[in-house]
Amino acid sequence: MADYDVIVIGGGPGGYVCAIRCAQLGLKTACVEGRETLGGTCLNVGCIPSKALLHATHSLHEAEHNFATMGLKGKSPSVDWKQMLSYKDDVIGQNTKGIEFLFKKNKVDWLKGWGSIPAAGQVKVGEELHNAKNIVIATGSEASSLPGIEVDEKIVVTSTGALELPKIPKSMVVIGAGVIGLEMGSVYARLGSEVTVVEYLDHITPGMDAEISRSLQKLLKKQGLNFVLGAAVQGVEPLKTKAKVGYKLRKDDSEATLDADVVLVATGRKPFTDGLGLQALGVELLPRGQIKTDGHWATNLPGVYAIGDAIEGPMLAHKAEDEGMAVAEVIAGKSGHVNYGVIPGVIYTHPEVASVGKTEEQLKEEGRAYKAGKFSFMGNARAKAVFAGDGFVKILADKETDRILGAHIIGPAAGDLIHEICVAMEFGASAQDLALTCHAHPTYSEAVREAALACGDGAIHA
Ligand SMILES: Cc1cc2nc3c(=O)[nH]c(=O)nc-3n(C[C@H](O)[C@H](O)[C@H](O)COP(=O)(O)OP(=O)(O)OC[C@H]3O[C@@H](n4cnc5c(N)ncnc54)[C@H](O)[C@@H]3O)c2cc1C
Repeated sequence: MADYDVIVIGGGPGGYVCAIRCAQLGLKTACVEGRETLGGTCLNVGCIPSKALLHATHSLHEAEHNFATMGLKGKSPSVDWKQMLSYKDDVIGQNTKGIEFLFKKNKVDWLKGWGSIPAAGQVKVGEELHNAKNIVIATGSEASSLPGIEVDEKIVVTSTGALELPKIPKSMVVIGAGVIGLEMGSVYARLGSEVTVVEYLDHITPGMDAEISRSLQKLLKKQGLNFVLGAAVQGVEPLKTKAKVGYKLRKDDSEATLDADVVLVATGRKPFTDGLGLQALGVELLPRGQIKTDGHWATNLPGVYAIGDAIEGPMLAHKAEDEGMAVAEVIAGKSGHVNYGVIPGVIYTHPEVASVGKTEEQLKEEGRAYKAGKFSFMGNARAKAVFAGDGFVKILADKETDRILGAHIIGPAAGDLIHEICVAMEFGASAQDLALTCHAHPTYSEAVREAALACGDGAIHA
């Protein structure tokens, strides 16, 4: 008899969701987590703390820029950085304790410590050996740096260090204009730091719809973020209390440097599988270090599965969660499924950016005939009432069938609005299906409907 039906290694969004679903499906389940708290990167040093700081600093921005217009006069709030960090830590604590509660409620055992797999069917945690019929690896990812850049988490930091700087820096260089770089750059720009984002490509937000990317850059520039694009960072030289970032412009090979109190290296993340013993077991990896899985999250080792940031695909908490639920279903003998064509991506800047499905660039590359329906938030009464008229909704639909192929939103609550389009896509809806659905007035969601109308006979308020 095995000790457990399932042992999940890693208590992040992939692992803890998988463990809870396994238990709900009647499987005896344990989850191994080496951190002091559950919730993984996302709850401890990722999604949640970054959103807490984005919320606090956005509130400051509103007070500084929009309160007086609404007749709310008085001194703008001053920043108590220590208190802001403690608010952020409190939010983390509430969330991580919540997962502990859910484990107890669902009778998932938390095996505290770092786990390894000495052999198929066995998990070692500290000195204890546990048997498991099935093992799910959900060990996530860690920040990756560039060759020659030494991260000390004080002056040269990853996102983890950037979430707990001892003081607000006067200047910050962000290397990499992806989601994490732009979110953390926004936080510090709102707090008064001089933020310069250095990016290798000629545009920000790699992989995102180009029109949205240009629009976001313009709006962030207006908020005070500086951009150096098409620049290959050559190195970061640590000085006493600062660092010097050297870069080369790709268009003419000219070289320049930037001094900053803090340098945030936001050049991506890589799978974390250290210490599991995968090599000895012969578990196959992909060239970029992800664990190789088949269509049902199975590795080449029978009874061993892998999900989340540790495998291929977008490094997103909700992608990890969906895989966690799906692999639990597979282990329980049901048919787990993830629709990788409908995974939304959100950037929590101001305004927010959200996208799902194909970009215009992808559709052009595929030679697919499509139509684009666009609607500006300037035509949305609710957005105008709350200083949120910047941005637009764009829906891409098949030219002949009208089936929705993708959607891209920059504007208020974009990260929430995208989901009605996700649901529509899951049901194979046409743009007309969305356009004929009554949307409450005045809501931001009317902009989604108007963009859908624009795929047909035209938007009303454009
Ligand atoms: C600053 C930042 C902001 C982000 N914001 C967002 C966002 O807004 N939305 C979004 O969708 N995604 C966001 N992400 C990405 C998101 O955090 C990850 O995609 C998600 O956490 C991946 O989940 P996971 O379960 O695969 O791995 P992780 O969350 O990385 O969890 C893995 C866990 O496994 C544990 N572990 C590893 N090895 C072992 C071992 N051998 N034994 C025991 N335990 C082990 C680790 O300690 C860790 O807790 C953000 C990331 C960062 C860094």
